[in-house]
Amino acid sequence: MRMSKMFMLTLREVPADAVITSHQLMLRAGMIRKMASGVYNQLPMGMRVFNKVQNIIREELDKKGCQEIFCSALIPSELWKESGRWDVMGEEMFRLKDRNERDFCLGPTHEEVFTDLIRQEITSYKQLPLNLYQIQVKYRDERRPRFGVMRGRSFTMKDAYSFDIDEAGLDKSYQDMYEAYTNIFKRCELEHSAVEADTGAIGGSVSAEFMVKSEVGEDEIVFCSGCNYAANMEKATSVNEEVSTEDLKELKEIHTPNVHTIEELEKFFNKNSKEFAKTLIYVADGKTVAVVVKGNREVNETKVSNAIGSVVEFELANETTVKRVTDAEVGFAGPIGIKTDYLFIDKEVADSKNLVIGANKTDYHIENANYGRDFEGVVGDFRNVTEGDKCTKCGGTLEIARGVEVGHIFKLGTKYSESMNANFIDKDGKSKPIVMGCYGIGVERTAAAIIEQHHDENGITWPLSVAPYHVVVVPVNIKKEEHMENAIKIYEKLQQMGVEVLLDDRDERAGVKFKDSELIGIPMRITVGKDIVDNKVEFKLRKSEEKEIITLDEIEQRVKEEFEKNNVKLG
Ligand code: ATP
Ligand code: MG
Repeated sequence: MRMSKMFMLTLREVPADAVITSHQLMLRAGMIRKMASGVYNQLPMGMRVFNKVQNIIREELDKKGCQEIFCSALIPSELWKESGRWDVMGEEMFRLKDRNERDFCLGPTHEEVFTDLIRQEITSYKQLPLNLYQIQVKYRDERRPRFGVMRGRSFTMKDAYSFDIDEAGLDKSYQDMYEAYTNIFKRCELEHSAVEADTGAIGGSVSAEFMVKSEVGEDEIVFCSGCNYAANMEKATSVNEEVSTEDLKELKEIHTPNVHTIEELEKFFNKNSKEFAKTLIYVADGKTVAVVVKGNREVNETKVSNAIGSVVEFELANETTVKRVTDAEVGFAGPIGIKTDYLFIDKEVADSKNLVIGANKTDYHIENANYGRDFEGVVGDFRNVTEGDKCTKCGGTLEIARGVEVGHIFKLGTKYSESMNANFIDKDGKSKPIVMGCYGIGVERTAAAIIEQHHDENGITWPLSVAPYHVVVVPVNIKKEEHMENAIKIYEKLQQMGVEVLLDDRDERAGVKFKDSELIGIPMRITVGKDIVDNKVEFKLRKSEEKEIITLDEIEQRVKEEFEKNNVKLG
Protein backbone atom coordinates (compact mmCIF):
# COMPACT_ATOMS: atom_id res chain seq x y z
CA MET A 1 0.00 0.00 0.00
CA ARG A 2 1.24 3.44 -0.88
CA MET A 3 0.79 5.69 2.11
CA SER A 4 0.05 8.69 -0.08
CA LYS A 5 -3.17 6.96 -1.08
CA MET A 6 -4.11 5.49 2.25
CA PHE A 7 -7.16 6.44 4.29
CA MET A 8 -5.07 6.90 7.37
CA LEU A 9 -5.71 9.58 9.90
CA THR A 10 -2.95 9.60 12.50
CA LEU A 11 -3.22 12.10 15.32
CA ARG A 12 -0.35 13.83 17.10
CA GLU A 13 -2.40 14.86 20.11
CA VAL A 14 -3.80 12.50 22.69
CA PRO A 15 -7.61 12.65 22.37
CA ALA A 16 -9.10 14.11 25.53
CA ASP A 17 -11.73 11.46 26.22
CA ALA A 18 -9.37 8.50 25.92
CA VAL A 19 -7.94 7.55 29.29
CA ILE A 20 -6.22 4.24 28.70
CA THR A 21 -3.21 3.68 26.46
CA SER A 22 -4.79 1.25 24.02
CA HIS A 23 -7.75 3.56 23.42
CA GLN A 24 -5.45 6.55 22.89
CA LEU A 25 -3.17 4.65 20.54
CA MET A 26 -6.02 3.10 18.54
CA LEU A 27 -7.36 6.61 17.91
CA ARG A 28 -3.96 8.12 17.23
CA ALA A 29 -2.89 5.32 14.91
CA GLY A 30 -6.05 5.78 12.87
CA MET A 31 -7.52 2.37 13.70
CA ILE A 32 -10.93 3.44 14.96
CA ARG A 33 -13.21 6.47 15.15
CA LYS A 34 -16.05 6.95 17.61
CA MET A 35 -19.62 7.34 16.36
CA ALA A 36 -21.55 7.24 19.64
CA SER A 37 -20.84 6.14 23.20
CA GLY A 38 -19.41 2.62 22.94
CA VAL A 39 -19.91 2.55 19.18
CA TYR A 40 -16.87 2.70 16.91
CA ASN A 41 -16.15 2.56 13.20
CA GLN A 42 -13.08 0.69 12.05
CA LEU A 43 -10.58 2.28 9.64
CA PRO A 44 -8.10 0.37 7.43
CA MET A 45 -5.34 0.15 10.08
CA GLY A 46 -7.82 -1.19 12.59
CA MET A 47 -9.55 -3.55 10.19
CA ARG A 48 -6.27 -5.16 9.22
CA VAL A 49 -5.36 -5.89 12.83
CA PHE A 50 -8.85 -7.12 13.75
CA ASN A 51 -8.81 -9.37 10.68
CA LYS A 52 -5.46 -10.82 11.71
CA VAL A 53 -6.78 -11.61 15.16
CA GLN A 54 -9.84 -13.21 13.56
CA ASN A 55 -7.71 -15.31 11.24
CA ILE A 56 -5.55 -16.58 14.08
CA ILE A 57 -8.78 -17.57 15.87
CA ARG A 58 -10.07 -19.27 12.71
CA GLU A 59 -6.88 -21.25 12.17
CA GLU A 60 -6.67 -22.50 15.72
CA LEU A 61 -10.36 -23.45 15.91
CA ASP A 62 -10.28 -25.14 12.51
CA LYS A 63 -7.31 -27.20 13.73
CA LYS A 64 -9.59 -28.53 16.47
CA GLY A 65 -12.26 -29.48 13.96
CA CYS A 66 -14.59 -26.56 14.59
CA GLN A 67 -16.70 -25.35 11.66
CA GLU A 68 -17.48 -21.74 10.86
CA ILE A 69 -21.02 -20.54 10.20
CA PHE A 70 -22.64 -17.12 10.34
CA CYS A 71 -25.94 -16.39 12.07
CA SER A 72 -28.13 -13.33 12.00
CA ALA A 73 -27.69 -10.68 14.66
CA LEU A 74 -31.41 -9.96 14.42
CA ILE A 75 -33.14 -12.57 16.58
CA PRO A 76 -36.86 -13.15 17.22
CA SER A 77 -37.91 -12.91 20.88
CA GLU A 78 -39.58 -16.36 20.81
CA LEU A 79 -36.21 -18.12 21.12
CA TRP A 80 -35.30 -16.07 24.17
CA LYS A 81 -38.67 -16.65 25.76
CA GLU A 82 -38.20 -20.40 25.29
CA SER A 83 -34.88 -20.37 27.14
CA GLY A 84 -36.31 -18.01 29.75
CA ARG A 85 -33.74 -15.29 29.03
CA TRP A 86 -35.98 -12.65 27.39
CA ASP A 87 -36.46 -11.20 30.89
CA VAL A 88 -33.14 -12.24 32.44
CA MET A 89 -31.09 -10.20 29.96
CA GLY A 90 -32.69 -7.00 31.27
CA GLU A 91 -31.58 -3.63 29.98
CA GLU A 92 -28.34 -4.92 28.46
CA MET A 93 -30.31 -6.30 25.50
CA PHE A 94 -31.12 -4.03 22.57
CA ARG A 95 -34.77 -4.76 21.75
CA LEU A 96 -36.81 -3.69 18.76
CA LYS A 97 -40.09 -4.41 16.99
CA ASP A 98 -40.76 -5.19 13.36
CA ARG A 99 -43.55 -3.53 11.33
CA ASN A 100 -46.01 -6.11 12.66
CA GLU A 101 -45.14 -5.30 16.25
CA ARG A 102 -43.26 -8.55 16.77
CA ASP A 103 -40.41 -8.40 19.28
CA PHE A 104 -36.81 -8.91 18.20
CA CYS A 105 -33.43 -8.23 19.70
CA LEU A 106 -29.94 -7.59 18.44
CA GLY A 107 -28.08 -10.62 19.73
CA PRO A 108 -25.88 -10.01 22.79
CA THR A 109 -24.83 -13.69 22.55
CA HIS A 110 -26.12 -16.67 20.55
CA GLU A 111 -26.81 -19.73 22.73
CA GLU A 112 -30.48 -19.73 21.75
CA VAL A 113 -29.79 -19.30 18.03
CA PHE A 114 -27.28 -22.14 17.87
CA THR A 115 -29.46 -24.42 20.00
CA ASP A 116 -32.40 -23.73 17.70
CA LEU A 117 -30.32 -24.43 14.61
CA ILE A 118 -29.01 -27.69 16.02
CA ARG A 119 -32.34 -29.06 17.23
CA GLN A 120 -33.70 -28.80 13.71
CA GLU A 121 -30.79 -30.70 12.14
CA ILE A 122 -29.57 -33.21 14.72
CA THR A 123 -31.53 -36.35 15.46
CA SER A 124 -28.97 -39.08 16.12
CA TYR A 125 -25.82 -39.61 18.19
CA LYS A 126 -24.15 -40.39 14.88
CA GLN A 127 -24.22 -36.70 13.99
CA LEU A 128 -22.37 -35.70 17.19
CA PRO A 129 -20.05 -34.27 18.43
CA LEU A 130 -20.11 -30.93 16.67
CA ASN A 131 -18.45 -27.62 17.36
CA LEU A 132 -19.75 -24.62 15.42
CA TYR A 133 -18.55 -21.05 15.58
CA GLN A 134 -19.10 -17.66 14.05
CA ILE A 135 -17.29 -14.35 14.06
CA GLN A 136 -19.97 -11.76 14.27
CA VAL A 137 -21.05 -8.46 15.79
CA LYS A 138 -22.73 -8.54 19.18
CA TYR A 139 -24.87 -5.78 20.67
CA ARG A 140 -24.98 -5.05 24.37
CA ASP A 141 -26.32 -1.90 25.94
CA GLU A 142 -23.55 -1.87 28.54
CA ARG A 143 -24.20 0.18 31.66
CA ARG A 144 -20.77 1.77 31.39
CA PRO A 145 -19.31 1.65 27.90
CA ARG A 146 -15.71 2.84 28.16
CA PHE A 147 -12.06 2.41 27.30
CA GLY A 148 -12.83 2.52 23.57
CA VAL A 149 -13.37 -0.91 22.07
CA MET A 150 -12.49 -2.66 25.36
CA ARG A 151 -16.08 -2.24 26.47
CA GLY A 152 -18.18 -1.25 23.52
CA ARG A 153 -21.90 -1.52 22.89
CA SER A 154 -21.31 -3.25 19.59
CA PHE A 155 -18.26 -5.45 19.20
CA THR A 156 -17.03 -8.44 17.25
CA MET A 157 -17.10 -11.73 19.07
CA LYS A 158 -16.03 -15.17 18.07
CA ASP A 159 -18.60 -17.38 19.69
CA ALA A 160 -18.45 -21.13 19.48
CA TYR A 161 -20.85 -23.78 20.74
CA SER A 162 -20.09 -27.45 21.24
CA PHE A 163 -22.66 -30.25 21.12
CA ASP A 164 -21.90 -33.64 22.66
CA ILE A 165 -23.73 -36.79 23.62
CA ASP A 166 -22.49 -36.86 27.22
CA GLU A 167 -20.36 -35.18 29.90
CA ALA A 168 -17.23 -37.02 28.82
CA GLY A 169 -17.70 -35.62 25.33
CA LEU A 170 -18.16 -32.14 26.75
CA ASP A 171 -14.97 -32.52 28.80
CA LYS A 172 -13.07 -33.26 25.60
CA SER A 173 -14.65 -30.33 23.70
CA TYR A 174 -13.92 -27.98 26.60
CA GLN A 175 -10.32 -29.18 26.80
CA ASP A 176 -9.89 -28.71 23.04
CA MET A 177 -11.14 -25.15 23.32
CA TYR A 178 -8.89 -24.52 26.29
CA GLU A 179 -5.93 -25.58 24.17
CA ALA A 180 -7.11 -23.60 21.14
CA TYR A 181 -7.49 -20.46 23.28
CA THR A 182 -4.05 -20.93 24.79
CA ASN A 183 -2.58 -21.14 21.27
CA ILE A 184 -4.57 -18.14 20.03
CA PHE A 185 -3.42 -15.85 22.82
CA LYS A 186 0.13 -17.14 22.54
CA ARG A 187 0.19 -16.29 18.84
CA CYS A 188 -1.15 -12.82 19.73
CA GLU A 189 1.82 -12.58 22.13
CA LEU A 190 -0.49 -11.96 25.04
CA GLU A 191 0.77 -12.94 28.45
CA HIS A 192 -2.36 -14.43 29.95
CA SER A 193 -3.73 -16.86 32.48
CA ALA A 194 -6.87 -18.95 32.58
CA VAL A 195 -8.80 -18.39 35.79
CA GLU A 196 -11.87 -19.97 37.38
CA ALA A 197 -14.86 -17.76 36.84
CA ASP A 198 -18.46 -17.20 37.75
CA THR A 199 -20.89 -18.44 35.11
CA GLY A 200 -23.31 -15.47 35.41
CA ALA A 201 -26.34 -15.08 33.18
CA ILE A 202 -25.05 -17.60 30.63
CA GLY A 203 -25.54 -20.41 33.13
CA GLY A 204 -23.78 -23.74 33.47
CA SER A 205 -21.31 -25.02 36.01
CA VAL A 206 -17.64 -24.84 35.03
CA SER A 207 -16.08 -21.86 33.35
CA ALA A 208 -12.66 -20.33 32.81
CA GLU A 209 -11.80 -16.80 31.82
CA PHE A 210 -8.69 -15.99 29.84
CA MET A 211 -7.25 -12.97 31.56
CA VAL A 212 -4.54 -10.60 30.48
CA LYS A 213 -2.84 -9.01 33.47
CA SER A 214 -3.15 -5.26 33.07
CA GLU A 215 -3.59 -2.27 35.31
CA VAL A 216 -6.45 -1.03 33.17
CA GLY A 217 -8.37 -4.27 33.63
CA GLU A 218 -11.87 -4.00 35.05
CA ASP A 219 -11.67 -7.43 36.66
CA GLU A 220 -9.80 -8.39 39.78
CA ILE A 221 -8.05 -11.73 39.67
CA VAL A 222 -6.92 -13.69 42.68
CA PHE A 223 -3.69 -15.68 42.31
CA CYS A 224 -2.07 -18.08 44.73
CA SER A 225 1.65 -17.63 45.26
CA GLY A 226 1.94 -21.26 46.36
CA CYS A 227 0.03 -23.22 43.71
CA ASN A 228 -1.65 -22.69 40.34
CA TYR A 229 -4.96 -21.52 41.81
CA ALA A 230 -6.28 -18.45 39.96
CA ALA A 231 -9.84 -17.17 40.02
CA ASN A 232 -11.84 -14.12 39.19
CA MET A 233 -12.69 -12.09 42.31
CA GLU A 234 -16.38 -12.79 41.63
CA LYS A 235 -15.69 -16.46 42.24
CA ALA A 236 -12.49 -16.60 44.33
CA THR A 237 -12.56 -18.12 47.80
CA SER A 238 -10.14 -18.08 50.71
CA VAL A 239 -9.72 -19.93 53.98
CA ASN A 240 -12.12 -18.73 56.69
CA GLU A 241 -10.79 -17.26 59.87
CA GLU A 242 -10.65 -19.79 62.69
CA VAL A 243 -13.83 -20.43 64.64
CA SER A 244 -13.77 -18.37 67.84
CA THR A 245 -13.88 -20.28 71.13
CA GLU A 246 -14.62 -17.25 73.31
CA ASP A 247 -17.47 -17.48 75.81
CA LEU A 248 -20.65 -15.70 74.82
CA LYS A 249 -21.11 -12.38 76.59
CA GLU A 250 -24.30 -10.53 77.32
CA LEU A 251 -25.86 -8.30 74.63
CA LYS A 252 -25.40 -4.59 75.32
CA GLU A 253 -26.90 -1.62 73.53
CA ILE A 254 -24.42 1.25 73.31
CA HIS A 255 -25.15 4.89 72.50
CA THR A 256 -22.88 5.82 69.55
CA PRO A 257 -23.82 9.29 68.30
CA ASN A 258 -21.98 10.40 65.15
CA VAL A 259 -20.11 7.13 64.87
CA HIS A 260 -20.66 5.60 61.44
CA THR A 261 -17.69 4.20 59.59
CA ILE A 262 -15.67 1.19 60.65
CA GLU A 263 -12.71 3.53 61.38
CA GLU A 264 -14.87 5.69 63.67
CA LEU A 265 -16.22 2.57 65.36
CA GLU A 266 -12.71 1.18 65.86
CA LYS A 267 -11.75 4.37 67.68
CA PHE A 268 -14.95 4.61 69.68
CA PHE A 269 -14.91 0.99 70.90
CA ASN A 270 -11.13 0.71 70.87
CA LYS A 271 -11.48 -2.55 68.93
CA ASN A 272 -10.07 -3.99 65.73
CA SER A 273 -12.23 -4.01 62.55
CA LYS A 274 -12.41 -7.81 62.85
CA GLU A 275 -14.48 -7.44 66.01
CA PHE A 276 -17.28 -5.73 64.10
CA ALA A 277 -19.83 -7.03 61.63
CA LYS A 278 -21.20 -4.66 59.02
CA THR A 279 -24.55 -5.01 57.34
CA LEU A 280 -25.06 -3.86 53.75
CA ILE A 281 -28.46 -3.52 52.19
CA TYR A 282 -29.20 -4.22 48.54
CA VAL A 283 -32.18 -4.48 46.27
CA ALA A 284 -32.38 -7.53 43.98
CA ASP A 285 -35.19 -7.25 41.41
CA GLY A 286 -37.34 -5.36 43.91
CA LYS A 287 -36.59 -7.60 46.92
CA THR A 288 -34.55 -6.25 49.82
CA VAL A 289 -31.38 -8.10 50.81
CA ALA A 290 -29.17 -7.66 53.88
CA VAL A 291 -25.64 -9.08 53.86
CA VAL A 292 -23.49 -9.27 56.99
CA VAL A 293 -19.69 -9.52 56.72
CA LYS A 294 -16.89 -8.86 59.19
CA GLY A 295 -15.75 -5.24 59.51
CA ASN A 296 -12.50 -5.95 57.69
CA ARG A 297 -14.24 -7.56 54.68
CA GLU A 298 -16.08 -6.46 51.53
CA VAL A 299 -19.33 -7.97 50.28
CA ASN A 300 -19.07 -10.03 47.09
CA GLU A 301 -22.19 -9.03 45.19
CA THR A 302 -21.92 -11.87 42.68
CA LYS A 303 -21.92 -14.51 45.41
CA VAL A 304 -24.94 -12.90 47.06
CA SER A 305 -26.80 -12.56 43.81
CA ASN A 306 -26.04 -16.22 42.94
CA ALA A 307 -27.38 -17.30 46.34
CA ILE A 308 -30.70 -15.69 45.43
CA GLY A 309 -30.63 -17.06 41.87
CA SER A 310 -31.63 -15.55 38.48
CA VAL A 311 -31.17 -11.95 39.59
CA VAL A 312 -31.32 -9.32 36.83
CA GLU A 313 -30.87 -6.03 38.70
CA PHE A 314 -28.75 -6.00 41.83
CA GLU A 315 -27.80 -2.73 43.45
CA LEU A 316 -27.18 -1.02 46.78
CA ALA A 317 -30.42 0.16 48.39
CA ASN A 318 -31.18 3.87 48.50
CA GLU A 319 -31.63 5.84 51.70
CA THR A 320 -35.42 5.47 51.78
CA THR A 321 -35.18 1.68 51.55
CA VAL A 322 -32.47 1.52 54.23
CA LYS A 323 -34.60 3.60 56.58
CA ARG A 324 -37.64 1.41 55.90
CA VAL A 325 -35.93 -1.92 56.63
CA THR A 326 -33.92 -0.68 59.65
CA ASP A 327 -36.26 1.93 61.17
CA ALA A 328 -33.13 4.06 61.54
CA GLU A 329 -30.92 6.55 59.76
CA VAL A 330 -28.30 5.15 57.38
CA GLY A 331 -25.30 3.74 59.24
CA PHE A 332 -26.97 1.67 61.94
CA ALA A 333 -28.11 -1.45 60.08
CA GLY A 334 -27.59 -4.77 61.85
CA PRO A 335 -28.86 -8.35 61.55
CA ILE A 336 -31.06 -8.34 64.67
CA GLY A 337 -34.65 -7.56 63.69
CA ILE A 338 -33.84 -6.23 60.24
CA LYS A 339 -36.88 -6.31 57.94
CA THR A 340 -35.37 -7.45 54.62
CA ASP A 341 -36.66 -10.22 52.35
CA TYR A 342 -33.29 -11.98 52.55
CA LEU A 343 -30.61 -12.08 55.24
CA PHE A 344 -27.21 -13.51 54.32
CA ILE A 345 -24.47 -14.05 56.90
CA ASP A 346 -20.88 -14.57 55.90
CA LYS A 347 -19.36 -17.73 57.41
CA GLU A 348 -16.75 -15.71 59.30
CA VAL A 349 -19.48 -13.72 61.05
CA ALA A 350 -21.25 -16.94 62.05
CA ASP A 351 -17.94 -18.31 63.38
CA SER A 352 -17.08 -15.21 65.43
CA LYS A 353 -18.15 -14.39 68.95
CA ASN A 354 -19.26 -11.19 70.66
CA LEU A 355 -19.34 -8.88 67.64
CA VAL A 356 -20.31 -5.22 67.52
CA ILE A 357 -23.20 -4.68 65.10
CA GLY A 358 -25.61 -1.91 64.12
CA ALA A 359 -28.73 -1.77 66.34
CA ASN A 360 -31.29 -0.80 63.65
CA LYS A 361 -31.84 2.24 65.85
CA THR A 362 -30.42 5.67 65.13
CA ASP A 363 -27.23 6.42 67.10
CA TYR A 364 -26.99 2.93 68.62
CA HIS A 365 -24.82 -0.15 68.20
CA ILE A 366 -25.00 -3.50 69.90
CA GLU A 367 -22.07 -5.22 71.59
CA ASN A 368 -21.61 -8.99 72.04
CA ALA A 369 -23.92 -10.09 69.25
CA ASN A 370 -23.69 -13.77 68.37
CA TYR A 371 -24.96 -15.74 65.42
CA GLY A 372 -27.36 -18.50 66.51
CA ARG A 373 -28.21 -16.86 69.80
CA ASP A 374 -29.14 -13.34 68.69
CA PHE A 375 -29.70 -13.58 64.94
CA GLU A 376 -29.96 -16.13 62.18
CA GLY A 377 -29.81 -16.12 58.40
CA VAL A 378 -28.42 -17.99 55.43
CA VAL A 379 -24.75 -18.69 56.16
CA GLY A 380 -22.24 -18.92 53.33
CA ASP A 381 -19.29 -17.32 51.60
CA PHE A 382 -20.45 -13.81 50.73
CA ARG A 383 -17.18 -11.90 50.94
CA ASN A 384 -14.37 -10.88 48.65
CA VAL A 385 -10.93 -12.34 49.04
CA THR A 386 -8.48 -9.87 50.59
CA GLU A 387 -4.81 -9.72 49.60
CA GLY A 388 -2.87 -11.95 52.01
CA ASP A 389 -5.72 -14.40 52.64
CA LYS A 390 -4.87 -18.08 52.55
CA CYS A 391 -5.52 -20.35 49.57
CA THR A 392 -8.16 -23.05 50.09
CA LYS A 393 -6.18 -25.45 47.88
CA CYS A 394 -2.67 -25.21 49.35
CA GLY A 395 -2.72 -22.73 52.23
CA GLY A 396 -0.43 -20.38 50.28
CA THR A 397 -0.81 -16.62 50.30
CA LEU A 398 -3.28 -15.09 47.85
CA GLU A 399 -2.42 -12.06 45.75
CA ILE A 400 -4.70 -9.79 43.76
CA ALA A 401 -4.02 -8.33 40.31
CA ARG A 402 -6.12 -6.53 37.73
CA GLY A 403 -6.92 -8.17 34.44
CA VAL A 404 -8.75 -7.80 31.16
CA GLU A 405 -10.99 -10.71 30.19
CA VAL A 406 -10.30 -11.54 26.56
CA GLY A 407 -11.96 -14.94 26.37
CA HIS A 408 -14.36 -17.09 28.29
CA ILE A 409 -15.17 -20.81 28.03
CA PHE A 410 -18.17 -22.46 29.67
CA LYS A 411 -19.52 -25.92 30.26
CA LEU A 412 -23.22 -25.31 29.80
CA GLY A 413 -24.42 -28.86 30.21
CA THR A 414 -28.07 -29.27 29.26
CA LYS A 415 -29.43 -25.88 30.37
CA TYR A 416 -30.37 -24.78 26.86
CA SER A 417 -31.00 -28.16 25.28
CA GLU A 418 -33.52 -28.97 28.02
CA SER A 419 -35.37 -25.66 27.99
CA MET A 420 -35.40 -25.62 24.19
CA ASN A 421 -35.86 -29.35 23.51
CA ALA A 422 -32.66 -30.02 21.64
CA ASN A 423 -32.52 -33.80 21.88
CA PHE A 424 -30.91 -36.70 20.06
CA ILE A 425 -31.51 -40.44 19.96
CA ASP A 426 -28.67 -42.28 21.66
CA LYS A 427 -27.26 -45.73 20.82
CA ASP A 428 -29.72 -47.30 23.24
CA GLY A 429 -32.65 -45.76 21.35
CA LYS A 430 -33.40 -43.26 24.13
CA SER A 431 -33.99 -39.56 23.57
CA LYS A 432 -31.51 -37.40 25.51
CA PRO A 433 -30.72 -33.69 25.72
CA ILE A 434 -27.57 -32.60 23.87
CA VAL A 435 -24.72 -31.63 26.22
CA MET A 436 -23.41 -28.17 25.36
CA GLY A 437 -20.50 -25.82 25.89
CA CYS A 438 -20.01 -22.22 24.76
CA TYR A 439 -16.86 -20.27 24.10
CA GLY A 440 -16.30 -16.57 23.40
CA ILE A 441 -13.44 -14.26 22.43
CA GLY A 442 -13.74 -10.51 21.97
CA VAL A 443 -11.84 -9.56 18.83
CA GLU A 444 -11.39 -5.82 19.38
CA ARG A 445 -10.80 -6.27 23.10
CA THR A 446 -8.05 -8.77 22.31
CA ALA A 447 -6.42 -6.23 19.97
CA ALA A 448 -6.70 -3.55 22.66
CA ALA A 449 -5.14 -5.91 25.22
CA ILE A 450 -2.26 -6.56 22.81
CA ILE A 451 -1.61 -2.81 22.65
CA GLU A 452 -1.70 -2.59 26.44
CA GLN A 453 1.12 -5.14 26.53
CA HIS A 454 2.98 -3.96 23.41
CA HIS A 455 3.67 -0.24 23.30
CA ASP A 456 6.29 2.35 24.23
CA GLU A 457 6.33 6.16 24.47
CA ASN A 458 6.32 6.47 20.67
CA GLY A 459 3.38 4.23 19.92
CA ILE A 460 2.36 0.65 19.31
CA THR A 461 4.91 -2.14 18.98
CA TRP A 462 2.78 -4.78 17.25
CA PRO A 463 3.81 -8.41 17.36
CA LEU A 464 4.51 -9.52 13.78
CA SER A 465 1.56 -11.93 13.91
CA VAL A 466 -1.09 -9.21 14.17
CA ALA A 467 0.65 -6.10 12.77
CA PRO A 468 -1.41 -4.22 10.16
CA TYR A 469 1.63 -4.38 7.83
CA HIS A 470 4.89 -6.25 8.33
CA VAL A 471 7.30 -3.76 6.78
CA VAL A 472 7.34 -0.07 5.98
CA VAL A 473 9.72 1.13 3.25
CA VAL A 474 10.69 4.77 3.73
CA PRO A 475 12.41 6.72 0.94
CA VAL A 476 14.07 9.61 2.80
CA ASN A 477 13.40 12.08 0.00
CA ILE A 478 10.84 11.15 -2.63
CA LYS A 479 12.19 13.82 -4.96
CA LYS A 480 15.51 12.00 -5.23
CA GLU A 481 15.18 9.48 -8.01
CA GLU A 482 17.58 6.92 -6.48
CA HIS A 483 15.67 6.96 -3.20
CA MET A 484 12.27 6.58 -4.77
CA GLU A 485 13.18 4.06 -7.47
CA ASN A 486 14.95 1.74 -5.08
CA ALA A 487 12.21 2.07 -2.51
CA ILE A 488 9.64 1.01 -5.10
CA LYS A 489 11.83 -1.93 -6.15
CA ILE A 490 12.13 -3.13 -2.54
CA TYR A 491 8.41 -2.59 -2.01
CA GLU A 492 7.50 -4.69 -5.04
CA LYS A 493 10.04 -7.37 -4.29
CA LEU A 494 8.78 -7.85 -0.74
CA GLN A 495 5.16 -7.91 -1.91
CA GLN A 496 6.03 -10.71 -4.31
CA MET A 497 7.37 -12.67 -1.34
CA GLY A 498 4.00 -12.32 0.35
CA VAL A 499 5.13 -9.66 2.79
CA GLU A 500 2.58 -6.96 3.63
CA VAL A 501 4.35 -3.70 2.88
CA LEU A 502 3.70 -0.01 3.22
CA LEU A 503 5.57 2.40 0.97
CA ASP A 504 5.78 5.81 2.59
CA ASP A 505 5.77 7.81 -0.64
CA ARG A 506 4.35 10.92 1.01
CA ASP A 507 6.14 14.18 0.46
CA GLU A 508 7.04 14.55 4.13
CA ARG A 509 10.25 14.90 6.08
CA ALA A 510 11.84 11.59 7.06
CA GLY A 511 11.28 12.50 10.72
CA VAL A 512 7.53 12.73 10.20
CA LYS A 513 7.46 9.39 8.40
CA PHE A 514 9.47 7.70 11.14
CA LYS A 515 7.15 9.09 13.80
CA ASP A 516 4.08 7.77 11.97
CA SER A 517 5.56 4.32 11.40
CA GLU A 518 6.43 4.13 15.09
CA LEU A 519 2.98 5.28 16.14
CA ILE A 520 1.20 2.69 14.00
CA GLY A 521 3.74 0.13 15.13
CA ILE A 522 5.03 -1.49 11.94
CA PRO A 523 7.50 -4.20 13.09
CA MET A 524 10.20 -3.64 10.41
CA ARG A 525 11.37 -0.44 8.74
CA ILE A 526 13.60 -0.20 5.70
CA THR A 527 14.95 3.28 5.04
CA VAL A 528 16.34 4.18 1.62
CA GLY A 529 18.66 7.18 2.02
CA LYS A 530 22.14 8.36 1.23
CA ASP A 531 23.76 4.91 1.54
CA ILE A 532 21.85 3.75 -1.50
CA VAL A 533 24.79 4.88 -3.66
CA ASP A 534 26.61 1.86 -2.12
CA ASN A 535 23.49 -0.32 -2.60
CA LYS A 536 22.84 -0.15 1.13
CA VAL A 537 19.73 0.57 3.19
CA GLU A 538 18.96 0.87 6.87
CA PHE A 539 16.99 -1.95 8.49
CA LYS A 540 15.38 -1.34 11.87
CA LEU A 541 13.04 -3.31 14.09
CA ARG A 542 10.30 -1.34 15.84
CA LYS A 543 11.12 -3.03 19.13
CA SER A 544 14.84 -2.30 19.02
CA GLU A 545 17.03 0.80 18.95
CA GLU A 546 19.62 -0.83 16.72
CA LYS A 547 19.93 0.29 13.10
CA GLU A 548 21.46 -2.30 10.80
CA ILE A 549 23.01 -1.28 7.48
CA ILE A 550 22.42 -4.06 4.95
CA THR A 551 22.81 -4.38 1.21
CA LEU A 552 19.89 -4.58 -1.20
CA ASP A 553 20.68 -8.28 -1.73
CA GLU A 554 20.37 -9.02 1.97
CA ILE A 555 16.88 -7.54 2.44
CA GLU A 556 14.93 -10.62 1.44
CA GLN A 557 16.87 -12.86 3.80
CA ARG A 558 16.75 -10.40 6.68
CA VAL A 559 12.98 -10.06 6.45
CA LYS A 560 12.51 -13.83 6.17
CA GLU A 561 14.62 -14.27 9.29
CA GLU A 562 12.15 -12.14 11.27
CA PHE A 563 9.23 -14.26 10.12
CA GLU A 564 11.05 -17.40 11.21
CA LYS A 565 12.11 -15.93 14.52
CA ASN A 566 8.53 -14.91 15.30
CA ASN A 567 7.00 -18.13 14.06
CA VAL A 568 4.81 -16.30 11.56
CA LYS A 569 4.06 -17.86 8.19
CA LEU A 570 5.00 -15.81 5.16
CA GLY A 571 2.40 -15.34 2.43
P1 ATP B 1 -17.41 -8.66 30.89
O1 ATP B 1 -17.37 -9.31 32.23
O2 ATP B 1 -16.15 -7.94 30.52
O3 ATP B 1 -18.65 -7.85 30.68
P2 ATP B 1 -18.71 -10.89 29.76
O4 ATP B 1 -18.56 -11.90 30.82
O5 ATP B 1 -19.97 -10.16 29.61
O6 ATP B 1 -17.50 -9.84 29.84
P3 ATP B 1 -18.86 -12.85 27.65
O7 ATP B 1 -20.33 -12.76 27.57
O8 ATP B 1 -18.25 -14.07 28.19
O9 ATP B 1 -18.28 -11.55 28.38
O10 ATP B 1 -18.28 -12.52 26.21
C1 ATP B 1 -17.16 -13.16 25.63
C2 ATP B 1 -16.05 -12.17 25.29
O11 ATP B 1 -16.55 -11.04 24.57
C3 ATP B 1 -15.39 -11.58 26.49
O12 ATP B 1 -14.40 -12.45 26.97
C4 ATP B 1 -14.78 -10.31 25.93
O13 ATP B 1 -13.54 -10.59 25.29
C5 ATP B 1 -15.78 -9.90 24.89
N1 ATP B 1 -16.68 -8.83 25.37
C6 ATP B 1 -17.71 -8.94 26.23
N2 ATP B 1 -18.32 -7.76 26.40
C7 ATP B 1 -17.65 -6.87 25.61
C8 ATP B 1 -17.81 -5.48 25.35
N3 ATP B 1 -18.78 -4.78 25.90
N4 ATP B 1 -16.95 -4.89 24.47
C9 ATP B 1 -15.96 -5.60 23.89
N5 ATP B 1 -15.77 -6.91 24.10
C10 ATP B 1 -16.59 -7.55 24.95
MG1 MG C 1 -20.57 -8.33 30.29
